[in-house]
Amino acid sequence: MADKIIYMDNAATTPVRPEVLAAMLPYFTEKFGNPSSIYSISAENKNAITTAREMIAGTIGTTAENIYFTAGGSESDNWALKATAEAYVGKGKHIITTKIEHHAVLHTCEYLEKHGFEVTYLDVDENGMVDLKQLEAAIRPDTILISVMFANNEIGTVEPIEKIGAIANEHGVLFHTDAVQAYTKENIDVEAMHIDMLSASGHKIGGPKGVGFLYIRKGVKIRSLIHGGAQERRRRAGTENVTGIIGLAKAAELAILDQKEITEKEKKIRDHLIARIEKEIPYARLNGDREKRLANNVNFSFRFIEGESMLIMLDGKGICASSGSACTSGSLDPSHVLLAIGLAHEIAHGSLRLTISDKTTQEEADFVVDSLKEIVEKLRNMSPLYEDFIKNSK
Ligand SMILES: *Cc1c(COP(=O)(O)O)cnc(C)c1O
Repeated sequence: MADKIIYMDNAATTPVRPEVLAAMLPYFTEKFGNPSSIYSISAENKNAITTAREMIAGTIGTTAENIYFTAGGSESDNWALKATAEAYVGKGKHIITTKIEHHAVLHTCEYLEKHGFEVTYLDVDENGMVDLKQLEAAIRPDTILISVMFANNEIGTVEPIEKIGAIANEHGVLFHTDAVQAYTKENIDVEAMHIDMLSASGHKIGGPKGVGFLYIRKGVKIRSLIHGGAQERRRRAGTENVTGIIGLAKAAELAILDQKEITEKEKKIRDHLIARIEKEIPYARLNGDREKRLANNVNFSFRFIEGESMLIMLDGKGICASSGSACTSGSLDPSHVLLAIGLAHEIAHGSLRLTISDKTTQEEADFVVDSLKEIVEKLRNMSPLYEDFIKNSK
C-alpha cells in the first residue's frame, strides 16, 4: 500500500466537505424531528428544508416550488423519463436522447422501449458533441421528450444546452438534462436555456451520497414517482432525507460561492496534466472536447495498453483513477461513450479518466504523470502488439 492517497476520481464521487458535515450533524441528533409533525422541533426542520429548497432553486434560476428532492442522480433521471413517458403517452411515444448518456438515462430508455416507446439515440462527433441538425431532424410530431446530458461524466464534454433547449422549445418538446456533472461547475439558467427538467446529485459536489434533486418546470405534467404521504408536493412521498437535503444545499451553496476560484484552480492543473501527457507519453489521444470541457476532467487513450492493468498499477502507487471499460460490472465491453466518439475497441480499452478537484496540487499532478509514464512504458514493453508495431514502423 502506498502511504499517501492521490484521489483523481472526483467524477465518481467526492468527499463531503467539512462545512457540509458540520451543517448536517445536528439534524441526526437534537434536530431529529419529522418535518411533517407539528411541534416546534419539527417545524424548524420543515423551515430548514424550505430554506434549502430556496437556496437550490436560486442556483439554477428558478423558484423553490419547482425543486423536488430525490435519492440522487439516478432517481432523478428515472423519474424524469418514466413519468414523462407515462404522462405524455397521449401525445406520442417517441423520445430522443444520445449515445453518450449515463446508464441512469440509457437503461431507463431501454426499459421504456420494452414498454412500447421508441427511442432515437443521437450520434456525437469525435469530441462527444451532439449535432444540432441531427437533433432537429429527429424531432417528429409524436416526440414527447429530448434528454441530453449537460456534461459527460467520462470525457467531460459540455453540450450546447442552450441551443438544444431553444430547439426543443421551438418544437414544443419537453427538454430534460442530466446535469449531475455540470451542476455548480457550469453556469445554469433553466429559463434562458429552456430546460424543463434537470437532474443533480449531492455526492458529486462535495455533499452526501443518496440525495439529489429533480427540477421540474411548473406546468409540466409529470406523475408522482413514489406514492404515499404528501411530501414534495405529493409527487415524491416518504419522510424527507433531512440531513441529506441540508448537506446537498450546503454543498451547492459553497461550490457556487467559490465557483470561479475552483474552476480557475482546476483548469490550471487540468491543462498541466494534459500538456505533460501529450508531450511525454507517445501514442496518447485526448478524449473529449479540448475547449468545451469540464474544468476537472482529463481523459486519455493510450494505445497498446489494457486499462485495468493501468488502474491496478496506479493503485499500487496510491493513485485513484478510473478507466474506459466497465469491468467492474463484470463485462469486458469498453465504455459506450468512447465507442460513440469513434474509438476502436482496443483503443477504448486503454483509456484513463483523471478527475481532479480544487484540492489537487501541481505536485500530485506531476507525481501522477511521472507514475503514468513509467506504467505505460512497462505495460507496452510487455505487449506483443506494441512489439509488432515498433518492428513494422522501423
Ligand atoms: C453519477 C452520475 C449519475 C448518478 O448519480 P447518483 O447520485 O450516483 O445516482 C447520473 N448521471 C451522471 C452524469 C453521473 O455522473
